[in-house]
Amino acid sequence: MTRIDSDAFLRDLNELRQIGKFRTGVHRPTYSPQDMESRRWLMEKLRECGLEPSIDGIGNVYGRHKGPGPHLLVGSHIESQNEAGWLDGALGVMAGVALARAGLPVDVCAFADEEGHFEGGFLGSRSIIGELAEDEIDRSRSRNDGQPLREALADAGLAGLPRMQLEPGRHKGFYEMHIEQGTQLESLGLRIGVVTGIVAIWQWHLKFIGQQDHAGGTTMAERRDAGLSAVRLLAKIDEEFWKFCGPRSTFTTGRISLFPGAPSIIPGTAEVLFQFRDIEIPVLERMEAALRAMVQDSNRREKCPATLTQMARATPALCDPAMMGALRDAAAALAPGAWQEMPSGAGHDAQYIAKKMPVSMLFVPSIGGISHHWSEDTKEEDLALGIQVLGKAAETFLGK
Ligand SMILES: [Zn+2]
Repeated sequence: MTRIDSDAFLRDLNELRQIGKFRTGVHRPTYSPQDMESRRWLMEKLRECGLEPSIDGIGNVYGRHKGPGPHLLVGSHIESQNEAGWLDGALGVMAGVALARAGLPVDVCAFADEEGHFEGGFLGSRSIIGELAEDEIDRSRSRNDGQPLREALADAGLAGLPRMQLEPGRHKGFYEMHIEQGTQLESLGLRIGVVTGIVAIWQWHLKFIGQQDHAGGTTMAERRDAGLSAVRLLAKIDEEFWKFCGPRSTFTTGRISLFPGAPSIIPGTAEVLFQFRDIEIPVLERMEAALRAMVQDSNRREKCPATLTQMARATPALCDPAMMGALRDAAAALAPGAWQEMPSGAGHDAQYIAKKMPVSMLFVPSIGGISHHWSEDTKEEDLALGIQVLGKAAETFLGK
C-alpha cells in the first residue's frame, strides 16, 4: 500500500501559506504578484515530486506525471479571495502534490481564477476543457479594479503563452479535495464528507415597473411603488418557497436595487437578483415553476408588473459512483462512523472538469463553517485524515 506523507503535506500547506500572508490567512488575488509567486513556487514543488511542471496562457499550473498510466488528475485552485483563508483551493492542489510524492500516477493542476476575480470566473477550468473563448478573454475585466484581463495576463508574464487542453483519454478521473465551507460536518461531529455532486445555480433577474413620483405630493392611493411590489413578492417567496424545495435547496436574494434611489422619490423601477440552488434537476424545475407562478400572481395583484429573466441555468455536476465508492470505502476504513455523503452547495473547478471525465470530491470540516475570510481554518488532524482517505481512495480507484 502506498504511504502518503501527512507531515510533508501539512508542511507544504504551511509553506504556501507564507506567500501573500494576511493575518492567519492569505491575500492572493488572481495574477497579483503574490499569486504569481505562489504559481512559481508550486511549479518548483511539482518538479521536486518528479512531475513535469508548466504554466499556460491563462495561468493554469500543471504537473505532468512522466510514467505510464492510467492517470488521475488531482487539483483545485491556488489563488484566494481577497484577505481570505489559507485552505480554500490550496488544499486540493497540495493534495495532488502529496499523492504525486507518494508515487501515484497523478497529474496535478492548479486552475486559474476559480474565485472569479475576473468576470466570468473559473477561467482556468473552463479554459482547459475548451470552454473559454478568446473574445471572452478580450472582454473580461477585474471585479476588483476594472483592469482588463488581457492587461493582467500581460503584467503577469502570461500573454502569448498557449492555453493547455486536457489530453483526451489520459485521465481515469479527477479528484478535488476541499474544505466544506459550511457547518454540517462540524455540527454532526464528522470529519469527512464524500461529495455526491455540486449543486447547480439558477440565477434570475426580476424587474418591476412602477411610476417614479414625488414622495409627498403623490397620495398613497395614487402611487405605483415598484419597491413595495418587489418586497411583497420576496416576502411571499420567503413564506412559500419551502414547499417546493428539496431538503438541501437554498434560495437567495442577493441584490435589491431601487431607482432612482432617493429619499423623496417613489421608486419607479425595482430590480432584484434572485437565485436558487439544488443538486437535482426535477427540484430545480419545481422551484422554477413555483417562481414563475408567484411572479404571475404578483402581476395580478400588484400595480407594478414584474418581468422575470433567467440569467444562468447550470446543470448539476454529479460525482462518479465508482470514484465516490472508493472514497466511501476509504472513509469507512480510516474514519469509521465519522463521515457522511453530502452535496456541495458551493461551486468548484470539478463541476467543469466533470464535462470531460468522471469527478469526485472530498470535504474536510471548516472550523465554525468560516470561509472566504482570513480566519478560515481546519484542524490539522482533519487535514491529515483527509489526505489519507484521498490517497487510499485514489489507489483503490486506480486499481493499485
Ligand atoms: Zn475553492
